[in-house]
Amino acid sequence: MSFYNLSSTSSGDLAAIAQITRDAGVNLDDCYQCGKCSAGCPLSDEMDLYPRKVIRMLQLGQVSAVLKSRAPWVCATCMTCTARCPQQIDIDSLMLSVRHAAKRAGLRPVREADIFDDLFMAGVRRYGKSNEALLAARFNLSSGHLFQDVLNAPKMAKRGMIGPSLHKVKDRAAMRRLFGRALRTTEGEKGDGI
Ligand code: SF4
Ligand code: SF4
Repeated sequence: MSFYNLSSTSSGDLAAIAQITRDAGVNLDDCYQCGKCSAGCPLSDEMDLYPRKVIRMLQLGQVSAVLKSRAPWVCATCMTCTARCPQQIDIDSLMLSVRHAAKRAGLRPVREADIFDDLFMAGVRRYGKSNEALLAARFNLSSGHLFQDVLNAPKMAKRGMIGPSLHKVKDRAAMRRLFGRALRTTEGEKGDGI
């Protein structure tokens, strides 16, 4: 009788796959392709690769196709897939890790998602909170979608969701230290222990 290995990575750029899985804390061998992650994903209709298939392609060593996929950029990191996985595989972290690997490789299959991420994190780093109006304005300018959601602004202002004042945390220095520590940790250095 012959057997097929369903789970072990068989070829491709093993170093890249190892970094993706290490960053995500995921062992690809744990996945037995039941598909529960894909079945529960609220954004699977928007994805070119379902979550189950992202894992399968990494198992098969097809990292290049995964890095070019829109799926990790469409992922909202809602964690539904992770909650449904019978193997407790952290799939949403894997999606983020693929996204970071794609960016390192100079790829951003969904340009708007990358712009939004960068602007969101820059806003939180500076003010400690996200300011919706500022974020939307900067996103529209950076992405070239100048009038996107402009018609919603009056309604949002009426409900107090946006306004002229910037929301800030009191201790912004602590926020800067927190970001600094996270960046150093990402780069493999020791944090400053705030
Ligand atoms: S739910 Fe878990 S075991 Fe099933 S296909 Fe998805 S990642 Fe693999
Ligand atoms: S975390 Fe991403 S891949 Fe998982 S269910 Fe949510 S949107 Fe889908």
